[in-house]
Amino acid sequence: MTSPSGSYALVHRDSRPLGTLVRLASGATFGGDILAICAGPCSVESRDQIEATAKAVASAGANVLRGGAFKPRTSPYTFQGLGAEGLRLLRDAADRNGLGVVTEVLDPRDVELVAAHADMLQIGARSMQNFSLLREVGEAGKPVLLKRGLSATVDEWLMAAEYLLLAGNDQVVLCERGVRSFDAATRNMLDLAVVPLLHQLTHLPVVVDPSHGTGIARLVEPMAFAAVAAGADGLLVEVHPNPAAAVSDGQQSLGFEEFALLMRHLPVVARAVGRNLPAASLVA
Ligand code: PEP
Ligand code: MN
Repeated sequence: MTSPSGSYALVHRDSRPLGTLVRLASGATFGGDILAICAGPCSVESRDQIEATAKAVASAGANVLRGGAFKPRTSPYTFQGLGAEGLRLLRDAADRNGLGVVTEVLDPRDVELVAAHADMLQIGARSMQNFSLLREVGEAGKPVLLKRGLSATVDEWLMAAEYLLLAGNDQVVLCERGVRSFDAATRNMLDLAVVPLLHQLTHLPVVVDPSHGTGIARLVEPMAFAAVAAGADGLLVEVHPNPAAAVSDGQQSLGFEEFALLMRHLPVVARAVGRNLPAASLVA
């Protein structure tokens, strides 16, 4: 590999050749034989919405509930999230359905609040190089999901992860969510080659977000299969009770039925590469 290992010595594969297992308090793991399946709406919108989604994704076999309470919106005039109330709704819904919680923290001043409700702190693509946020989250004592920046190189992404490890946190998962490209046919260009590449470069687990990675609901299932076939340690999928009415990212969100179908089809792909789904592991 061409990258100077010195610039990210702590995340480099050489520092931990066997790989890192990231474990949430809920029991979900990233980096082991069992995949982590994180599913839920783009934004937490209401109690009914998040409750119904938690129930649906849990019964389909997901083990982590996702949902934004603090939303990084391109326009300041669009829905910014329910904030602290959204965190409470997310936690309640997850607890009632045996799920972990991953949610984004946007502001270093909110890290303590988000960490009090979430099992895993998400650093969004737009924040990947917010270095004060990285330092603060690194000290929060919770597992972290670090999304790839909108146009971040692998080196920049790994150096962002290095900030988290340097702050004392080795429970870090990288999330590929597509990068900006010349082509508007998909929302982003989902870079699946980084999955095996990152597994060579770093000991950290890697998950794939085919929802933001494509921006198109019908592409989510095939790209989820491809991600798992490429060796991803898990998936992040947007699911909504009524995608057409979602306040954000409805066009890339799966309905309950579509998500259940994806989960029904996924074990065949997972088993082909030596992995299992969370629910399948209970009956295995
Ligand atoms: C999200 O996962 O809700 C999100 C905003 O994603 P990204 O930061 O990858 O755009
Ligand atoms: Mn979204």
